[in-house]
Amino acid sequence: PPFPTTPPVSKPLAMALAEEARAVVRQFDYSDENVNKGVKEFLRQLDEGLHKDGTSLSQIPTYVTAVPNGTEKGLYLAVDLGGTNFRVCSINLNGDSTFKLTYSKVAIPKELMVAKTSEELFSFLAKQIEDFLKTHHFHHYETHVRRRNTVSSPTGYKDEHVFRLGFTFSFPVKQVGINKGTLIRWTKGFDIPDTVGKDVCALLQTEIDKLHLPVKVAALVNDTVGTLMARSYAAPGKTGAVLGAIFGTGTNGAYVEKLSNIKKPLEGEFDDTTGDMVINTEWGSFDNQLNVLPTTPWDVQLDKESPNPGFQMFEKRVSGMFLGEIVRLAILDMMQNDKISFFKDENSSFNDWRSTTNIGKHSGLFRQWGLDSSILSVAAADANPELGTLRQQLESQLEVYSPSLEDAQAFKAIASAVGRRAARLSAVAIAAIVLQTGGLDKPGDEPIDIGVDGSLVEHYPSFRDMIYEAFRIIDGVGEEGAKRIRIGIAKDGSGVGAALIALVAAKMEQHNPF
Ligand code: BGC
Ligand code: MG
Repeated sequence: PPFPTTPPVSKPLAMALAEEARAVVRQFDYSDENVNKGVKEFLRQLDEGLHKDGTSLSQIPTYVTAVPNGTEKGLYLAVDLGGTNFRVCSINLNGDSTFKLTYSKVAIPKELMVAKTSEELFSFLAKQIEDFLKTHHFHHYETHVRRRNTVSSPTGYKDEHVFRLGFTFSFPVKQVGINKGTLIRWTKGFDIPDTVGKDVCALLQTEIDKLHLPVKVAALVNDTVGTLMARSYAAPGKTGAVLGAIFGTGTNGAYVEKLSNIKKPLEGEFDDTTGDMVINTEWGSFDNQLNVLPTTPWDVQLDKESPNPGFQMFEKRVSGMFLGEIVRLAILDMMQNDKISFFKDENSSFNDWRSTTNIGKHSGLFRQWGLDSSILSVAAADANPELGTLRQQLESQLEVYSPSLEDAQAFKAIASAVGRRAARLSAVAIAAIVLQTGGLDKPGDEPIDIGVDGSLVEHYPSFRDMIYEAFRIIDGVGEEGAKRIRIGIAKDGSGVGAALIALVAAKMEQHNPF
């Protein structure tokens, strides 16, 4: 059935809208030449971060020196504090590249993301772990409680029935050991100043101990490192994956670097026999100084109004938390332009967009972060000339009543331009890492394997295709190189990856028991 609309706006205004939309779209162009400049600068900042601390790309050593090969076995717990959700899972690694995973997931309450104290957040996390154990591992939990109550001294209690837990913590951490690391800064929607500089494993362990849970925080893992591990476990090649990357609420990548290239001091203990170490790039903060990042007035405004101006400048152009906001700011500007009609009907005053009668007063369009990036996926996916699905979503998600076809077309054009620029920027980061690791210099056709996860790569239509399109024009990659790069989703990557690192930690403990 035809989509019900208000009477179409008069032709000249509609044409003006399309033209204005094209002008906005052009501002998001990211040319082949600039993509190549981006790769060169990325390589330079990558190298700089290997030499010293405090650089834009943090290049954090993880003390993980090998990737798994699929034969790992055992039952582990893992928790994942991401940008949006908290997941608790138990993972049974079967030792044949397969695993069985049980999980629960809750949205992190917004007020806890900006809590006054770390305790408020971490006690909530511990409570989720308790609920999970009671629901999914009741026998184990109960046995533990009974035993604990029958030994007189807490130190007399043997901990062989204790779960080893891998903690996936998707924020920049200065790692000082396999289960020890201090928060450098919060990113995405989090802002709890009290936590900065503290050991996040200790914070979690304290809250777990208050609830007397049979759980030891054994490993601290960035989600990108987890993704890299999980990909290598599930799709082992001759050499394993070289890069794990997240394109979700935030963005980041971790890759396998040669120890000899890491020139800054390594303080923690590690096994150097492989000659490699996984590095957490924290590429969300690539080019905070804006040497090469494409920048529109809306990027500037978004940054200024964000909780962390001047940081995560790459992430603010690439990841899910920000893409919707960029689109929102661009659209608000267009709505205030009285030479065009955008999201207005004939009853609206063209001079005052706030008086517009066909947008709900509580529409997310009028609120910071109010435009969820998921509607960008809807816009990109709607290939029907009437844009019926997108128009419905504009109504239900954004309270834009009866948007005209012209409105929806303009929205789609802008949303797609922002999505495309994000994909091409993602290609810059991935290609630079592939070039850094030298995989393409080796003759043959062995694929260069990359594990990815996150809402954008999972749900945004053609995100991967647009990345590959950009690869082909990148010097040193090109058509041939693009064919060898294999990007695969690492489903449940952070959970499985954390379990794998908890396993490594358990092995280290056996070697030097306390
Ligand atoms: C954080 C990274 C994380 C990425 C993806 C960024 O905001 O700084 O540590 O890996 O989000 O979750
Ligand atoms: Mg995540």
